[in-house]
Amino acid sequence: MSMSLPKISLWERIVSLLAPRSCAVCGTRLEPQEDIVCACCNLHLPRTNYAVAPYDNEMAQLFWGRVPVERCAALLHYQAAAPASALLYKLKYGNRPDLGVELGRLMGKELLPTGFFQGIDFIVPVPLARQRLRQRGYNQSEMLAQGIAQVTGLKVRRGLIRRVVNTETQTHKDRWARTDNVNQAFKLVGRMPETGCHVLFVDDVVTTGATLCACMECLKGVANVRMSVLSVGVAHTR
Ligand SMILES: [Zn+2]
Repeated sequence: MSMSLPKISLWERIVSLLAPRSCAVCGTRLEPQEDIVCACCNLHLPRTNYAVAPYDNEMAQLFWGRVPVERCAALLHYQAAAPASALLYKLKYGNRPDLGVELGRLMGKELLPTGFFQGIDFIVPVPLARQRLRQRGYNQSEMLAQGIAQVTGLKVRRGLIRRVVNTETQTHKDRWARTDNVNQAFKLVGRMPETGCHVLFVDDVVTTGATLCACMECLKGVANVRMSVLSVGVAHTR
């Protein structure tokens, strides 16, 4: 990775003086050339580096034998108590749609040189149930997708699949119960291209993979479809 410092315009310096931004992990004031997190927190982000081996990594293995998946990557390892998890908590519960776009841009910038996005036709953010969307005001996966799109130039298709049943909260269920819980919770409602295409699903955190499996199930019947997955975090349950 090239570490050349980005040029900071006078305008950016003025903005940073008038409206200081803070690191989403430790809260210290960000320098104009820093995005989302300070240089120190950035250095300690638990990156997975899965994008360099997108066909065979711990996350890809979650889907083996369940749905045919091409490439899998997550930016970070997710551990509930780790400092970096503040990013994901704020994205989901902190009313920070802007953080989603920024994290999406970060993923786009870091994964673009690996070739992870090569051949992808469009991005599909994992949809939220309507009720949840009303409560939160935004779909965090859609914000991530927008950020990725800004960097890669890929299209985002938000109306392709819809969440059809309201799944109960999954926190207290074991892996198999969760799988049942989200089964057929999504439905293909948009039009898919006639010929084969490569879809990239985007989610915030992948734990058992059940939600993404259910999304991918919707497209299983589409001829020659290829599907890949990208998330900010991957939680390890084993
Ligand atoms: Zn920091």
